[in-house]
Amino acid sequence: MGNQYLNPNIKVYPHFFNLAKRQQPDLRTYSIANWSPVHKILQDNDATVAKHKLTDGLVTKSVVKTLKKEDVDVMFVHLDNVDHAGHKYGYAPDNVKYIESIEKTDKKIGRIVKALQKRKNYANENWLILVSTDHGGSGTNHGKAIPEHTTIFYIASGKDVEKGEIKKQVYVIDVAVTALKHLNIDLKDEWNLDGTVTGLKQ
Ligand SMILES: [Zn+2]
Repeated sequence: MGNQYLNPNIKVYPHFFNLAKRQQPDLRTYSIANWSPVHKILQDNDATVAKHKLTDGLVTKSVVKTLKKEDVDVMFVHLDNVDHAGHKYGYAPDNVKYIESIEKTDKKIGRIVKALQKRKNYANENWLILVSTDHGGSGTNHGKAIPEHTTIFYIASGKDVEKGEIKKQVYVIDVAVTALKHLNIDLKDEWNLDGTVTGLKQ
């Protein structure tokens, strides 16, 4: 299973910002990424602001600053150092360098969550935080249809989240659908979304 964007049909399967804005055109949508291909599927006006080719440190800085100063409704954040560490040192739980990279990334996410909680209007906002990945790895690579590569984590946090372990099978495609649901977007059948709302209270 690769993670390349091979001619994505973005008219039929657009970015979730696009679907959200069909019903809520005034949404302020931000995408701040290390890996630039994630922005290949953005069309004009999907993102209020899109920044890419930043290091993880710069992504985190930019996200913290944006959360402090801007009127943000939706934000997509992409960090890449854990994948870089996997390619360089190996994707393995007994690999010290790999685990170090996960811990450093965890700290960056901590800084982002703190910035979110410090927002002026945080008490009246209802943020849903979703953290996931598009693949795992083994050796120093990924891209095969084997559990070590296709198993992912999925973390949901917020007032609307059902606490505890998610019992059903989770897929990376659940992320966008869950985000759309949280934004009160009516999930249209004709959008042909394969994901399901995951981790929210019924
Ligand atoms: Zn990779």
